[in-house]
Amino acid sequence: MAKMYRWKRAWQRFTDEFRGTHRKVGFSGWNTRGYKRSQRAQDEAYWALIRVARDFGIKVYLKPDLGESRDSHGEKFRVGGHWDSRGNAVRMVYRSFPILAHELAHAVDEFLGYRYRKPTGELVASGAGYMLVCASAGLVSPTADVAYAKRQGATERGFEECEERILQVFREMATLINVPCD
Ligand SMILES: [Zn+2]
Repeated sequence: MAKMYRWKRAWQRFTDEFRGTHRKVGFSGWNTRGYKRSQRAQDEAYWALIRVARDFGIKVYLKPDLGESRDSHGEKFRVGGHWDSRGNAVRMVYRSFPILAHELAHAVDEFLGYRYRKPTGELVASGAGYMLVCASAGLVSPTADVAYAKRQGATERGFEECEERILQVFREMATLINVPCD
């Protein structure tokens, strides 16, 4: 098989997971060295994103407890991060590149002119955030991001409608932190 870009493999995994059409593609297993490298890459990408946030005038706060919210089924879940559009601020429960990527994806989505609506906005942030993590630090499982988007009410139809938007938000972010995305 021809060399496939990491972001393309990530996108394949995300779409397969969303549609439930898993193909058994080799998921190069973690080894300790790879894991450490990935941790380092995540740390670097975290700080790169922090600098981008600062450039955009976005404040990032750590708040150990952001309380609970309810998903589209009315079930409670603990909030890990939050994008405050009015306050131009991100709050998160601990330093986490995936959480920061998700929350800033909301911000970029908004800067690109999209108006936040629940299932779509969460799907876009979940997809773009996942893609950014993979592109920066190596492939990880999309299960949690897909499950979160679905809990927030994302449907297959909704996914088809916002595929381009997910990729657009991802590319903007990847460009901002110098990660290859095309
Ligand atoms: Zn979100």
